[in-house]
Amino acid sequence: MNFCSHCGSHDLKLRVPEGDTYPRISCGNCQTIHYQNPKVVTGCLPVWEDKVLLCRRAIEPGRGRWNVPSGYLENGESVAEGARREVREEAAAEVTIDYLITLYDIERINQVYLQFVGQLVDGVFGIGPESLECKLFTQAEIPWEEIAFTSSAFTIRNYFRDRERGTTTLYQGSYPDRGLINP
Ligand SMILES: [Zn+2]
Repeated sequence: MNFCSHCGSHDLKLRVPEGDTYPRISCGNCQTIHYQNPKVVTGCLPVWEDKVLLCRRAIEPGRGRWNVPSGYLENGESVAEGARREVREEAAAEVTIDYLITLYDIERINQVYLQFVGQLVDGVFGIGPESLECKLFTQAEIPWEEIAFTSSAFTIRNYFRDRERGTTTLYQGSYPDRGLINP
């Protein structure tokens, strides 16, 4: 940030505001405090019969690698609505949300991931503009070496674990891995 987005002043300082505990970017001219907070990434693993739907990314980061349809939550949107939108955008598909499976922290890049398991409506999907390819995979077919992000591998692995056990669990994870809270 080079100038204040409120008044245009370049008089920005990093300081701890009175009554606060963290340093914030504060404008010396209009006194506006520019809070910066982590971003929420929302997504959904679409399930159809014994398979899950993954998308091969057409954009960086992770271009060419497989991912659980996910993206930044928009303002004014619930986490579940955002997850359904991401499936629409990346896989041209509709899902009904079943349950939240993943809460995944990546503090060093200021992101928190929330991913659901959902049912692919009618088994129908296409290829969204952010994807090179979308495909249904059985557990044995998952391309583990080509999964784009650790959060997606975490969700896929735990989904199949749950399915074998007949459970629906909320798994809490992180990168770097600090160990499963719900093993
Ligand atoms: Zn200002």
